[in-house]
Amino acid sequence: MSKKIPLHWQIIIGMIGGVLCGFLAIQFSNGSHFISNWIKPFGTIFINMLKLIAIPLIITSLIKGVADLQDITQLSKLGIRTFALYLMTTITAVTIGLTLVNTVNPGKFVSEKTRTDMLSSFGEDVNKKVAAADENKKQGPLQPLVDVVPDNFFGAASSNGNMLQVIFFVILFGVGLILIPGEKSAPVKAFFEGCNEVILKIIDIIMLFAPFGVFALLAALVAESPATDIFIALGAYALTVLAGLTFMILVFYPFLVRMFAGKDYLFFLRGIAPAQLVAFSTSSSAATLPVTIERVEEHLGVEKEVSSFVLPIGATVNMDGTSLYQAVAAVFIAQVLGNHLTIGDQLTIILTATLASIGAAAVPGAGLLMLIVVLEAIGVNPAGIALIIAIDRPLDMCRTVANVTSDAAVSMIVAKQLGKLGEPQPKEWDDSQRK
Ligand code: ASP
Repeated sequence: MSKKIPLHWQIIIGMIGGVLCGFLAIQFSNGSHFISNWIKPFGTIFINMLKLIAIPLIITSLIKGVADLQDITQLSKLGIRTFALYLMTTITAVTIGLTLVNTVNPGKFVSEKTRTDMLSSFGEDVNKKVAAADENKKQGPLQPLVDVVPDNFFGAASSNGNMLQVIFFVILFGVGLILIPGEKSAPVKAFFEGCNEVILKIIDIIMLFAPFGVFALLAALVAESPATDIFIALGAYALTVLAGLTFMILVFYPFLVRMFAGKDYLFFLRGIAPAQLVAFSTSSSAATLPVTIERVEEHLGVEKEVSSFVLPIGATVNMDGTSLYQAVAAVFIAQVLGNHLTIGDQLTIILTATLASIGAAAVPGAGLLMLIVVLEAIGVNPAGIALIIAIDRPLDMCRTVANVTSDAAVSMIVAKQLGKLGEPQPKEWDDSQRK
């Protein structure tokens, strides 16, 4: 029997094929129309399947994970470590972004003409985004806290955007399970454990479709993307963001994992690669979550008690890539618009980009919307996002990779600290079929 091509290679082949197909299509007059009608829907189906599985996965895996913790002290240990590490990685990311952008000064590379063209051509899009950000601002300071507590579980579970509400209820449920007598909790745990196995198997099945899904997503992206001259004008800015993200993904996280989880560089990157590729293709940490959980548990050896808690929370609140990008983008826009930023402004960026990335939803484009909050905090006109809208999607794809990689790295470190980092146990679809 021929040797199976590893999943990450299958996905990479799908991605390259998609990009080539997109480029080929735009050579024909109806090509982009064809891709939108006949190829893109398969990408949408792939994302929908991943999203479909996200809430059931969180429910089954988190209930089991929390209930497996022996007592409430273990839960609080897990919680404190997770949040401390998430905060630390995010602040590091913003600081790296700020250092890079202040060194490269990408704003200086944009000509007066490009600036005026861009500000006028994206005016309408910007107005919509500013209105949405204003809507957010009207709420009181404690609203984010109130939003975590749902008033109806089924209402919360009916939208993937409410992941934190679902997590809140599920943790409560798990705590309840820990506190009741063992003979009462055992059947409930066994039930959710079984459901969890089923869901993980469904993810394996969905991943068989991944190479085709990313093919369709990337073909559509290339066929529908704006003219490339904008990319050149914004090259210095984009390269600054990419340099920061590359450093985080290829140096910072593997280094953390090496230092604090004792696992080597290639082990980590190889284990998480398929999740990174799905993150890149979907631009959504939430859609990637099922793949992240599967890779971290089965290929990086993190036990379910840790992964089921750390990863769903990380997908919603830990967005290092987003915060790094926001720091670079805010300073870039200020430079192009001629605003001078003081040290105080730079510190404000650290604070607001950290909070804005926590508040950003795990969906495509959320980071751009929350950038408005950062810009307003430093007194830069939010209409400035018009300068970067055109190139936001490719950067979104890359920052989502950093967001997902960070969640995986933190889950390994927390697992190591709590003695819950074991050996990987890959359960491939084909193997299980043979049993
Ligand atoms: N797309 C990113 C994510 O899902 C969020 C962002 O727009 O930065 O992680």
